[in-house]
Amino acid sequence: MSAVRRPLVAGNWKMHKTVGEAREFCDALATLVDVAAPLDVAVCPPFTALEATARALAGTSIAVYAQNVHEAEAGAHTGDVSAAMVLDTGATGALVGHSERRAAGDTDAQVAARVRAGIDAGLLIVMCCGESLDTRRAGQTEEWVTRQVRDGLASATAADIDRLVIAYEPIWAIGTGETATPDQAQEACAIVRRVASEVVDGTRLRVLYGGSVNPGNAAELMACADVDGALVGGASLDPGSFAAIVAAAA
Ligand code: PEP
Repeated sequence: MSAVRRPLVAGNWKMHKTVGEAREFCDALATLVDVAAPLDVAVCPPFTALEATARALAGTSIAVYAQNVHEAEAGAHTGDVSAAMVLDTGATGALVGHSERRAAGDTDAQVAARVRAGIDAGLLIVMCCGESLDTRRAGQTEEWVTRQVRDGLASATAADIDRLVIAYEPIWAIGTGETATPDQAQEACAIVRRVASEVVDGTRLRVLYGGSVNPGNAAELMACADVDGALVGGASLDPGSFAAIVAAAA
């Protein structure tokens, strides 16, 4: 973690939590998180709970991000949500290119277009990248991550630095309980920063690690020089464990 870049810990709820469950979570989290700590905290509910979560967390320093955003402003895109619609709920950011979305068909070109559309609309965009186990075993992690970052930032410019975060999430560590070692996380996050520096100021870019982060491993992962926080899935569903990860970052 660097002294220059403000850490970010974001919780990705995936397809979990009804509106009522989201409200309960927010009430609990608000009492557990140290709002004065010098870091950013966000939760990423499903679209259906975005507005209720944003209302429940209004007045706290905890932000709300969507889990995806469509690149078009409006139109015939059944099941999708635009950046303006996300903002309309009170959310201020969105994930883009999560591996579960890529597996469901989101392409590199769409990821790039969504980064652009989201930032243009005023959202903070957390663009995700990361390799499969086969890619890692084939020794192609650097090549894969380099391509994903270059493709994802194809429409980005240096001016986007304050609204752009990149999360390195190795697919083999997502939801598996298998975490990258601090050395693996550091190595990959350094590659992300170096490649992104072709477009934005790498010294200011926040790069997160994601993949089975939990209260027990969060501190050592976030202690890595190029890891500026965490994107947390499973362990973000419980307010106590998410707050413990936030405390590790603080
Ligand atoms: C994620 O969904 O982004 C994630 C990292 O999940 P988990 O923490 O459960 O591996």
